[in-house]
Amino acid sequence: MSQIMIDDKENILNTYKRFNVVLTKGNGSILVDEDGKEYIDFSSGIGTNIYGVCDKEWIDAVCQQAKKIQHTSNLYYSEPQVKLAKLLCEKTGMKKVFFSNSGAESNECAIKAARKYSYDKYGEGRYEIITLVNSFHGRTIATLSATGQDVFHQYFFPFLEGFKHAFANDIQALDNLINEKTCAIMIETVQGEGGVNPLDASFIKHIEKICNEKDLVFIVDEVQTGNGRCGYLYSYMEYGVHPDIVTTAKGIAGGLPFGAILFGEKTEKVLGYGQHATTFGGNPICAAAAYSVIKRIDDKLLNHVKEMRALVERKLLGNPLVKSISGKGLMIGIEIDESLKAADVVSKGIENGVIMLTAKNKIRLLPPLNIKEADLSKGIDLLIKSMEELK
Ligand SMILES: *Cc1c(COP(=O)(O)O)cnc(C)c1O
Repeated sequence: MSQIMIDDKENILNTYKRFNVVLTKGNGSILVDEDGKEYIDFSSGIGTNIYGVCDKEWIDAVCQQAKKIQHTSNLYYSEPQVKLAKLLCEKTGMKKVFFSNSGAESNECAIKAARKYSYDKYGEGRYEIITLVNSFHGRTIATLSATGQDVFHQYFFPFLEGFKHAFANDIQALDNLINEKTCAIMIETVQGEGGVNPLDASFIKHIEKICNEKDLVFIVDEVQTGNGRCGYLYSYMEYGVHPDIVTTAKGIAGGLPFGAILFGEKTEKVLGYGQHATTFGGNPICAAAAYSVIKRIDDKLLNHVKEMRALVERKLLGNPLVKSISGKGLMIGIEIDESLKAADVVSKGIENGVIMLTAKNKIRLLPPLNIKEADLSKGIDLLIKSMEELK
């Protein structure tokens, strides 16, 4: 253990089970630790560094804004926010944007907006939000309550009331949970932390339909799936549906803490003066970084994402240790042979020079979206080697 690791354990709350690696720098999809060892990055810092490390355009955007003004507060107009909001509305057809600092905060904002939409129109008592079993929506009390996994509903009682969890892809079970108290349905199109499980297209389309019929707010949590990750700017776009609220964070600012909540026609006027606010949300440096990220999510990049996914499938499907591959685009879940544990493969991968993630019992890969074919190919070979060594 290095001194950094010892001091970490001594002074930082022990809430993370860290791997014994201190990452210090990198270039593109290659990361370097304090001893100079190199790794292929299949994590992007959990889906944040979507153009890898030391991306020149991102660095220029951040540095130029830092040299102008680093923060203004939301009491004043701010050009980076305005440029980014305009770009997001143009690219999605959504009507208005609110900026936050994280995924959980984006979802908090969506939850507040959904409840207020209903309160404004129908009065008290219509506040229930249906989310899915195995969903993940964040770590605040409200977003933990929204999260449909029992392991998260411990210790911190009482949780927030008003959340019901439906099984994914079961239209009948979902419909059975809707009653006169329901105000919204919130989904991830691919459940990330819950095991990289994509929803059926028919289920997603049904949710849009039932939300329209019953005047419920249709919320899509694109914190992990969004910003190009699944091969579309936002993953819902694949299905031709139109959510009332889209939340995002993770990759949006290429590795800076930032989030956005996009509001459609139905919800754009719900939150008014004084009804929602944040000190740092919309920070000019983060907004400038996000602009440089979103501006470059074009067909060329999205095609690259799809091609790189196809490469991963070609290399892994048919391997006797790989049972199936799930997810969309460069949000990849790998179901492995029962004799192997995903966490052990990830540890072995670190020894072998590839950084991966897990989701439930799967290996999860979230490589930078612009990862080079050679790096991707080499990293997959290291993953295969790691599984074989454990066999
Ligand atoms: C990571 C994640 C969140 C929480 O985001 P934070 O930035 O950690 O608050 C919420 N929803 C989904 C789908 C996520 O993947």
